[in-house]
Amino acid sequence: MATASYVIGIGSNRRHGRHGAPAGVVAAAIAAMAGLGLDIAAVSRTRQTPALGPSSRDFANAAVLAGSALSPPALLALLKRIERDFGRRRGQRWGARVLDLDILAWSEGGWSDRTLTIPHAALAQRAFAIGPAAEIAPAWRHPRLHATFRQLDMRLAAPRAVDRSGRGS
Ligand code: ADP
Ligand code: MG
Repeated sequence: MATASYVIGIGSNRRHGRHGAPAGVVAAAIAAMAGLGLDIAAVSRTRQTPALGPSSRDFANAAVLAGSALSPPALLALLKRIERDFGRRRGQRWGARVLDLDILAWSEGGWSDRTLTIPHAALAQRAFAIGPAAEIAPAWRHPRLHATFRQLDMRLAAPRAVDRSGRGS
């Protein structure tokens, strides 16, 4: 397979014994991806995001643009291996998590099977995911929503503008 590019989202909201606070976990995860052969071409800022759901600590979130010859399922397997290496346990959905690695987008378009959907199903609804993605790949176009990442980020960042009745917010 020719080398494709992926946008990979990174999140952490727990300290790691060796890597420290969530921002340190994000940096270490990027180093781990590079160490396993991903060609890291761009790295977003790491931003702090208030936690969603029952988990109370803030998240550190970032995204990278990575070149890889891996297929989407093979990349997912590699990312899950890194999550496990960082101590993430299965079933910790929404809970405090040391590391979450998501395939946000793929240069070849969409992918959908039982365990993997690209672009990530929640990408356009999550400011903490689309923000970093838009920072490193603003002109990428979402294959199902037909909008660029920059446009999706702006839509999410904008306060609810004027509704149909003409009332502002
Ligand atoms: P989320 O990342 O949506 O907050 P999880 O990290 O708990 O939730 O996701 C759990 C499962 O979601 C993974 O085991 C994986 O099989 C599936 N999944 C589906 N699409 C993707 C994707 N694009 N990137 C990463 N995981 C995905
Ligand atoms: Mg995930």
